[in-house]
Amino acid sequence: MDCDKCGDEAVLHAAYSGLHLCESHFRRSVEKRVRRRIREDALLADDATPEDPETWVIGLSGGKDSVVLTRILQDTFAEDPRVELVALTIHEGIEGYRDRSLEACLDLADPLGIRHEVVSYEEEFGLRMDDVAREDPEGMAPCAYCGVFRRDLLSKYAEEFEADKLLTGHNLDDEAQTALMNVLEGDVSQIAKHFDASLGSFEEREDADEAFVPRAKPLRDIPEREVALYAHLRDLPTHMAECPHASEAYRGEIQELLHGLEENHPGTRHSIMAGYEELAAVVAERYRGEGGPDLGECERCGATTTGEYCRKCQLVEAVHEADAGVDAD
Ligand code: SF4
Repeated sequence: MDCDKCGDEAVLHAAYSGLHLCESHFRRSVEKRVRRRIREDALLADDATPEDPETWVIGLSGGKDSVVLTRILQDTFAEDPRVELVALTIHEGIEGYRDRSLEACLDLADPLGIRHEVVSYEEEFGLRMDDVAREDPEGMAPCAYCGVFRRDLLSKYAEEFEADKLLTGHNLDDEAQTALMNVLEGDVSQIAKHFDASLGSFEEREDADEAFVPRAKPLRDIPEREVALYAHLRDLPTHMAECPHASEAYRGEIQELLHGLEENHPGTRHSIMAGYEELAAVVAERYRGEGGPDLGECERCGATTTGEYCRKCQLVEAVHEADAGVDAD
């Protein structure tokens, strides 16, 4: 097939738009959609100046999504003194997995001259995900622990680096899956939180909770397959292996469901997100008015929490206790 724009050989047929695109027009199309999302989300505040720039911390895992996001942001803002980029990699302590993806992060960030910071569960919490998966004191999937630990470190270091925004590489498939899971679980407050935490433009979110560094997902209009193709065509350093502890069974089911729907009804993911965002904006507005639970500080680590100890500190303690019990046997 030929490119609908120039007649060169097409590398992609996007069924949802009907377009065939060659390499050059496909790359431009991805970059254009990411930049439009940044504009529409009002990511760069009007009052950012070269003297008082915004700091954007990017969660860089070495997977295709965060690598593509980092590369496009660097291409877009390298010459813009109103933005400073900091890449932050979380090392979970997973044998044979994270060390290799860390190499991909270094291969990307070093030549581009991006400030790159690495923090680990081992240094921060005295544990590795391999230990957590083995001990499993709460009878949960490994990803349930890992998600709590990762969110804690991203928030902690975004604050430490005085970030104005925390950016992650979630793509259209990730977001449509989360939207569908929230709806199917009937969790309306979660839909409100999803909007205030990372959807919608910053103008719409201005009344949202200020206890956390606000998040943004500039790749959320790009389907996963296109992110992978973009990384491949630009020969970006990525680590594609799957984590040995990957365990989000419900998300996997939703992913399969969405693949089937998209194949039979191209554009399903886009229409889910269009409707969900509009709905989430209304729900967020309503929930903000009602006020949430009282937020305080964790007595152990000082993180924002509704209880005496935050969830991360509770889980860290449970893993250490289980580990000590095994050692004592
Ligand atoms: Fe952590 Fe699960 Fe991701 Fe592995 S797949 S890094 S355990 S969240």
